[in-house]
Amino acid sequence: MKRARHFASDNNSGICPEAWGALEEANHGHASGYGEDQWTRKACRLIRDLFETDCDVFFIFTGSAANALGLASVCRSYHSIICHEASHVQNDECGAPEFFSGGAKVCTLTGKDGRLTPEAITAAIDKRRDLHFPKTGALSLTQSTELGTVYTPTQLKANCHAAKKSGLKIHMDGARFSNAIASLGVAPKDITWKAGVDMLSFGLTKNGTHAGEALVFFDKSLAREFDWQNKQAGQLASKMRFLTAPWIGMLQDGAWLRHANHANKMAKRLRRALSKISGIKFLHPTQANAVFVDMPPVLVDAMHKHGWHFYTLYSDNDARLMCSWDTTPKDIDDFVGDLNDLMTKRKKLRPNTRKGQGRKAN
Ligand SMILES: *Cc1c(COP(=O)(O)O)cnc(C)c1O
Repeated sequence: MKRARHFASDNNSGICPEAWGALEEANHGHASGYGEDQWTRKACRLIRDLFETDCDVFFIFTGSAANALGLASVCRSYHSIICHEASHVQNDECGAPEFFSGGAKVCTLTGKDGRLTPEAITAAIDKRRDLHFPKTGALSLTQSTELGTVYTPTQLKANCHAAKKSGLKIHMDGARFSNAIASLGVAPKDITWKAGVDMLSFGLTKNGTHAGEALVFFDKSLAREFDWQNKQAGQLASKMRFLTAPWIGMLQDGAWLRHANHANKMAKRLRRALSKISGIKFLHPTQANAVFVDMPPVLVDAMHKHGWHFYTLYSDNDARLMCSWDTTPKDIDDFVGDLNDLMTKRKKLRPNTRKGQGRKAN
């Protein structure tokens, strides 16, 4: 069956009205290229206001490029980058952090529900300090995490402290930063620079824009030569206003937070509805806009055949259901209704023999 919306990824959603309107508004007459325009200046100002600090802001086409270039700006080729084993940096960027840093090694750690702990970070740093192993250069934390959880300000502070003691720089992958703010109800500064984060890849694409993430340097000294690094990587947008105008549309009247709140609320609603089906188990807490369900492959396959798109990312039976700014209560009712019907008939289903939809970047 053809459906309007799915639970595959929040980047499967379209452009929200606020971002679309801002694009339209910017689409009149001529404006200087490469960021020398009024929209880019205003977007930067709104980001500084949001974080309540003077920071350097660069707009970059994709989140992968923002992560990789941000990390490359603080890592030499002989450094290592510590991150969670589920992180986008490790799994979904085709080695871009290693490439742009000229060889820095990504070292992954385990951690419950997608979160790293200070103990794990300290152990990773202390494990090898000799010159035969890469020198730890950066810690990358994802907020909200790839597994739909969030770090509290206290947890972040402890992680940053553990890494900073040994001179590491702190990068935050904030592809779903807005969802974390909506979940925690804190000020953006509380989970970034005040907690010790040096730079943030701030994403709005999944939350309603068409493209363009902001790499925000809270430690401005780290951005000294970033202009060149960014240009060399082909990330300096020619018609920059069309990357930055949507940021104005999203930030100036709070749409970024409204949409994230909505997506989180839909995830909670989805979880509540699923929990009423007997036999459904959840794999992680639902603190942002993702619900992870333990779903046997036979059921995953049956739901896919019913026309529902969603991924099993980390094993055959961990179905990741992502809600987005445009998810509706009816989408949830339809999905849960279909799942409920299939579970009732489950005994009749034959085992899964063909390959599922497999892994796709999130
Ligand atoms: C989507 C996502 C990104 C950015 O991905 P791009 O497709 O390169 O924009 C980065 N980190 C996480 C955790 C993501 O989910």
